[in-house]
Amino acid sequence: MKAHDGMYIGGQWRPAAGPDTIAVVNPADEQVIAHVPAGTAEDVDAAVRAAREAFPAWAATPPAERAARIAALRDVLVARKDEIAETVTAELGAPLALSRTVHAGVPVLVAGSYAELAASYSFEERIGNSTVLLEPVGVVGAITPWNYPLHQVVAKVAPALAAGCTVVLKPAEDTPLTAQLFAEAIHEAGLPAGVFNLVTGLGPVAGQALAAHEGVDLVSFTGSTAVGRQIGATAGAAVKRVALELGGKSANVILPSADLAKAVSVGIANVMSNSGQTCSAWTRMLVHRNQYDEALALAAAAVAKYVPGERVGPLVNAKQQQRVRGYIEKGLAEGARLVAGGPEAPHETGYYVSPTVFADVTWDMTIAQEEIFGPVLSILKYEDEEDALRIANGTVYGLAGAVWAADEAEAVAFARRMDTGQVDINGGRFNPLAPFGGYKQSGVGRELGPHGLSEYLQTKSLQF
Ligand code: NAP
Ligand code: MG
Repeated sequence: MKAHDGMYIGGQWRPAAGPDTIAVVNPADEQVIAHVPAGTAEDVDAAVRAAREAFPAWAATPPAERAARIAALRDVLVARKDEIAETVTAELGAPLALSRTVHAGVPVLVAGSYAELAASYSFEERIGNSTVLLEPVGVVGAITPWNYPLHQVVAKVAPALAAGCTVVLKPAEDTPLTAQLFAEAIHEAGLPAGVFNLVTGLGPVAGQALAAHEGVDLVSFTGSTAVGRQIGATAGAAVKRVALELGGKSANVILPSADLAKAVSVGIANVMSNSGQTCSAWTRMLVHRNQYDEALALAAAAVAKYVPGERVGPLVNAKQQQRVRGYIEKGLAEGARLVAGGPEAPHETGYYVSPTVFADVTWDMTIAQEEIFGPVLSILKYEDEEDALRIANGTVYGLAGAVWAADEAEAVAFARRMDTGQVDINGGRFNPLAPFGGYKQSGVGRELGPHGLSEYLQTKSLQF
């Protein structure tokens, strides 16, 4: 695959400061497809300087003009959608159909939404005898994971640019090629030099340097809880703004009045999509005891359609494959029962894991408490609605969830009692404007839509 051997800093591709590189591997066949430079603190420093230099002019650019540049960026993402999909498939392993619709498609919606929001948002409000100015926070350090390589980038960069901030991005080491394509799109869209900068590299080196850099005003991170905690602590010590999106263990609550077959099949699709590498996936399905056996039979039938290598891709790397297989073994050791799948890898080559469904899972088992990040679903039994609520809320996470019932009001009444940032009612559709983010240890802050934009603004009040 095509790759740049430098960093995108100050509007051009520049040689990296050090000699080290990162090998990019296709997880479907384990072949090295490219190398990118492994950035150092020196590269990060150059990128932050470029972003600082570009900040005053970009912050002062009228919102309508910022909107026009983001609209141009959106158009480039549309024009290059096939190349984007192929690149995501090559470095993440996602089936091409998924790469086209989701990995290349969703960022177009999100970039488009911020082109509109930049133009329509009120960056000024009146409160009594005051005028409140909503001003850009400054230089943003964005650190993104590999699970949705382009979406995770656009969900941070588009609102930051709409707000008038400038950005330095450190993408995941596993998916740097999509990030390089995004930098090309930024360039083609005519964003001024330094408004967006890219440093590829390793988390503990380039990521750490970016999070700790004193020229960064806000760190926006998506990834594991362990790294998130560390970034939060670093930001706290420097009194710097921070946004953390840290994954979940979401509940799919099927109330007795629901359409069981539909709820189970949508629930399976939700967990198997992207090989289960979705932080908001409903990895715990909660079913009333009277419907439990029927739900297991429906789940077994539904999961059979998810064939590894066809509808389900591999996991991103060997480490994640081992980690997920380890969780499946742990589930068996703790007494859960396999309805489908298991720890054996379905193919010799490629980092595949068998789509796996567990029955007889209790709320306190490891597989019902920890984020697995693979194609693994646990089906739990509840006695009554109070029991379902206790189980649903019984983890440290609170990112997403679903409720199914015969009528919407019944589902909404349950959803109101859930400790979680978003709930899909009877299979509600994705809304790119709805705030996305977590309660409890799922994170701090919100992405997408106007709520996502406000994360990149700070207020100044003028009294008259
Ligand atoms: P991760 O290490 O937290 O990676 C997220 C990002 O943070 C990557 O860009 C990573 O760089 C960077 N990073 C790592 N260590 C850092 C440090 N000390 N300072 C600054 N940045 C740092 O996550 P992972 O290892 O890829 O995945 C592990 C688990 O995290 C998964 O199994 C899953 O449970 C969870 N996860 C959650 C999400 C989500 O959407 N919330 C996404 C991915 C993973 P490198 O790529 O070089 O490590
Ligand atoms: Mg990592």
